Amino acid sequence: MKKWQENIRRVIPYTPGEQPNIPGMIKLNTNENPYPPAPGVRRVLGEMKEENFRLYPDPACSMLVEALSERYQRPREQFFVGVGSDDVLAMAFLTFFNSEKPVLFPDITYSFYPVWAELFGIPYERPALDEEFRIVKEDYERENGGIVFPNPNAPTGLYMELAQVEEIVRCNPDVIVIVDEAYVDFAGPSAMKLVDRYDNLLVVQTFSKSRSMAGMRIGFAVGNPHLIKYLNDVKYSFNSYTMSQAALELGAAAVKDEAYFQKNIERLTKTRERTKKELKALGFHFPDSAANFIFASHESCPAKEIFEALRQRRIYVRYFDAPRLQDYLRITIGTDEEMETLLRALREITN
Ligand code: PMP
Repeated sequence: MKKWQENIRRVIPYTPGEQPNIPGMIKLNTNENPYPPAPGVRRVLGEMKEENFRLYPDPACSMLVEALSERYQRPREQFFVGVGSDDVLAMAFLTFFNSEKPVLFPDITYSFYPVWAELFGIPYERPALDEEFRIVKEDYERENGGIVFPNPNAPTGLYMELAQVEEIVRCNPDVIVIVDEAYVDFAGPSAMKLVDRYDNLLVVQTFSKSRSMAGMRIGFAVGNPHLIKYLNDVKYSFNSYTMSQAALELGAAAVKDEAYFQKNIERLTKTRERTKKELKALGFHFPDSAANFIFASHESCPAKEIFEALRQRRIYVRYFDAPRLQDYLRITIGTDEEMETLLRALREITN
């Protein structure tokens, strides 16, 4: 071992889902949206000015913050934006989790949380989900250095009623509670409205799923203006220009088309509910997902075998080779045609 290696910050990185680029593939492995973004996004892209490339972007991200403020009918000071919600969450971990006491997040949840905690040297504990994969609210009513959980949770897809979320926030007035709402638009009411009542709540959302813009990398947080100020202080100490001007303008265009957004959500949730019925008939069981994916296990056929067999047919789903997860496949909801092809393949494989 070289002497300089002693000084290296060594991390075990998060493993993102594969991004294969194979003609004719059906990609149901990273919870992307199968439909295009709002038509206004393409129009704004076509009209994009040369300045957007030549000049630095607006460090305050005003265009996007204003569009969000308008859409959600909240003051601009309540919004922070970043390069996907991963960027927003990473900044939030760095800003708000600075205690000797452990931060709490569920075991099973989004697998990026322990990676950020390790990277930033944040102590953490992981209360287990119950037998039905639900978050146990009481586990978050003890001393801690902060709390983070997704709602709906990932990869289970289970949505926690807002009253329970509020209980967790209310019981923890001395720490920041981050609710990661990457999939909330497919599920139920957002915790955003609790922000006015609780100054320790930060709600994080993304344009990657319900707004079909995973490739543009746009995420945001909503919280008390004090929290937003702290987040911006950390951001400006790191990189003033996190988001490109193109992403800011395209994101603003997406937010402005509410009718398209609603239509997109509606067709996706319809396909999800139809897919649940079909999967059940094929012998799969799963938690009742409120997200744009289903976390499913087959009564007799091992998940890994199904995963491999689907792959051979150029159908990509997500398989996690980890305790409590290895019997399951996480299947993103695609178009109706994509789901038909998937179900046909599953019928053959599980027979
Ligand atoms: N939170 C959860 C629970 C997720 O599943 C994801 C998607 N991998 C993210 C946050 C991050 O999404 P993005 O960075 O694309 O906004």
